[in-house]
Amino acid sequence: MSATEQMRAMLDQLMGTAREGDESKHRYHFTDHRVCKSFLLDCCPHDILASTRMDLGECNRYHDLALRADYEKAAKHKDYGYDVDVSID
Ligand SMILES: [Zn+2]
Repeated sequence: MSATEQMRAMLDQLMGTAREGDESKHRYHFTDHRVCKSFLLDCCPHDILASTRMDLGECNRYHDLALRADYEKAAKHKDYGYDVDVSID
């Protein structure tokens, strides 16, 4: 990852998808079924087990740090129940 990409990821993490001028990148809302809910909770098994013997390979759902930031903000006001919906598929 280049320095620019790293900076971009950091900003995404801090500010969510609301960051100006970068809307095209964010195709989904975090509630979209294509978005990895486990990733929003920072516990996607595909990430956790990556480079271990139990490596599951790439997650086939959408991972985006900005969506996680959005979710964390929204979850303060509303319980989405994602913490009970952590499954491997
Ligand atoms: Zn995932």
